[in-house]
Amino acid sequence: MSFKAAGFKHDAQFARVRLSKGRNLKEYRSDFILCEYQTRPDVDRTEWDIQQVRAVYKRDEWRLQFVCRTTIDPDPPGDGVAGVDLGICNFAAVSFGGESVLYPGGSLKEDEYYFTKKKAKCDNSSSRKATRLDRKRTGRRTHFLHALSKAIVTECVERGVGTLVVGDLGGIREGDESGESRNWGDHGNLDLHGWAFDRFTTLLDYKAESEGIDVELVSERDTSKSCSACGQTDKTQRVERGLYVCEKCDTVANADVNGAENIRQKVLLSLVTDGGDRDNGWLAQPSVCLFDSESGAFVPREQVTS
Ligand SMILES: [Zn+2]
Repeated sequence: MSFKAAGFKHDAQFARVRLSKGRNLKEYRSDFILCEYQTRPDVDRTEWDIQQVRAVYKRDEWRLQFVCRTTIDPDPPGDGVAGVDLGICNFAAVSFGGESVLYPGGSLKEDEYYFTKKKAKCDNSSSRKATRLDRKRTGRRTHFLHALSKAIVTECVERGVGTLVVGDLGGIREGDESGESRNWGDHGNLDLHGWAFDRFTTLLDYKAESEGIDVELVSERDTSKSCSACGQTDKTQRVERGLYVCEKCDTVANADVNGAENIRQKVLLSLVTDGGDRDNGWLAQPSVCLFDSESGAFVPREQVTS
């Protein structure tokens, strides 16, 4: 059975589709079937351009097939390179080189706190109420990550970025080379962020690809300890109140932006060797985009100096 454009209404947010039963029924009768469906976790429903919905009866169950229009292999928006540094406080810091944007993870943390507290009040962690809370929490986390990856890819498209370089946290979660692990806060944070970073990278990769942007993972080694303006690496470099201060060239940078710019430069290779007399003020003055739960998207906040 197939439903053309006029015969269905898709609700991406709640993973539902309304299938029309036709126009012959009398007005007081319900003339549609509301179907709830599930997809693989990495599928972004909001990107679907559905042309047709098919209902297929197979192995004792009804399956929905969505026929979507999609663009294959689009040209990259440009040849720019952007770097992404993932972290706890700022979930993502993005450097475009000459400009930077921070995406704080506050609302993700607030959710986590809220749901952990709510769940603790459940008598039984496998009760229906607890299960419902878990599902809701996962849904909200997922939405946050979708909105974030979408916001970053949109910024990249606007700036003609063709390559997005992401710091790979894989090894760091186990503790980095020097044996010291990062301060991940309590164990709950570790669980959440391990999950969220993997998931986020997958979503970012998928959304970037659909815009022709290449995503590269690079090691995060030394990206937080080196000065992105002069290249000086200081193992004892202390980051204070989110600022990286270089003792050699006096550059002051937002620590996460400095990390993101170092990650970006890993792919730029020898492209930039312009003597270091550039204006580095942007390193200390990122724009900030905050998650707005009302619109479900990231919105820019005025320029701040952190
Ligand atoms: Zn420096």
